[in-house]
Amino acid sequence: MKAAVVRAFGAPLVIEERPDPEPGPGQIRVRVEASGLCHTDIHAAHGDWPVKPNPPFVPGHEGVGLVERLGDGVTHLTVGQRVAVPWLGKACGRCEHCLSGWETLCERQINTGYGCDGGYAEKMLAWADFAQPVPQGVDPVDAAPLTCAGVTTYKALKVADVRPTQLVAISGVGGLGHLAVQYAKIAGATVAAIDVTDEKLELAAELGADLVIDARKHDVGEVLKRYGGAHAAIALAVNEDAFTAVNSGLRRGGKLVMVALPAQGTIQVPIFDTVLNGTSVIGSIVGTRQDLAEVFQLHAAGRTKVICETRPLDSVNESIDDVLHGHVPARIVFDLGAQR
Ligand code: NAD
Ligand code: ZN
Ligand code: ZN
Repeated sequence: MKAAVVRAFGAPLVIEERPDPEPGPGQIRVRVEASGLCHTDIHAAHGDWPVKPNPPFVPGHEGVGLVERLGDGVTHLTVGQRVAVPWLGKACGRCEHCLSGWETLCERQINTGYGCDGGYAEKMLAWADFAQPVPQGVDPVDAAPLTCAGVTTYKALKVADVRPTQLVAISGVGGLGHLAVQYAKIAGATVAAIDVTDEKLELAAELGADLVIDARKHDVGEVLKRYGGAHAAIALAVNEDAFTAVNSGLRRGGKLVMVALPAQGTIQVPIFDTVLNGTSVIGSIVGTRQDLAEVFQLHAAGRTKVICETRPLDSVNESIDDVLHGHVPARIVFDLGAQR
């Protein structure tokens, strides 16, 4: 089988022929049909974060495909069934986080395409209990971005506890942001979308954003304050200044939800304003299996739209460059033979 492999941080990925992986107990082998390129995969390939993967590894945590082989003990999935393999490859199922509905915080989790090989391949392994069945009516190419970009932003809006009367700022309308705009609209909020390219701002408006703010031309905080300030700001742009800018546009009691993970990212949070205004800064990491099930349910019901461009896996290095330069519609999905 063919796989795109990170051999060294910062070096181009290498397309390799590898033997088909054999599923161990509790695992399945998936014949990948579609695999999304999340900006996290770029951070992984560059070794951007304090906790690093170990090259060589296959990135990708938006892999969607058909179950091809069942490991010992797997009884609830069937060969031929379509599943998605998300970032949360496995969690312990026993710790306080797992038992309280916060499996995404499990300290013993293994992350797909980071702590084990991921979806940039024709075949991949997954732990059966964490492979998410993809419902009928959800196209595999659409399912791919929903598996990380969708679940992550859906969860971030839950964490922000967004209500219909609220103003929500979505900072960065890329892979994650284009879905965040839609989930915020579904929650009934008034949405301000922020980006730095004309295409992304136009896309945000098409997807229902009530207000678009071009961060190249305007002071984001000031514009948001003109509308009373944001009840919640979801920080999705891979840029520290963008975090600071939306934080300054919160209304009293507002919440900054940190989602993007710029390398070595830090921001200065002014203590006086945070205390006097009673604002919060919250981190949000992907979503649970139940969150992903809800994301698929919304899509199957026709309530969300995935904007993406399909490309062959061989284009992986140029695709990474295009994401870094903002030259993609919202998401790139590697098409590995999706039957749609
Ligand atoms: P992306 O590259 O598709 O989107 C980023 C968007 O931000 C682009 O549209 C870009 O034009 C815009 N942008 C750049 N500078 C900006 C600025 N100054 N102001 C406003 N917008 C700006 O990336 P993505 O795949 O959507 O991922 C975004 C980030 O989220 C990455 O850091 C990724 O690692 C992270 N992520 C986090 C989680 C999580 O669970 N917390 C999950 C998935 C991805
Ligand atoms: Zn756990
Ligand atoms: Zn991701």
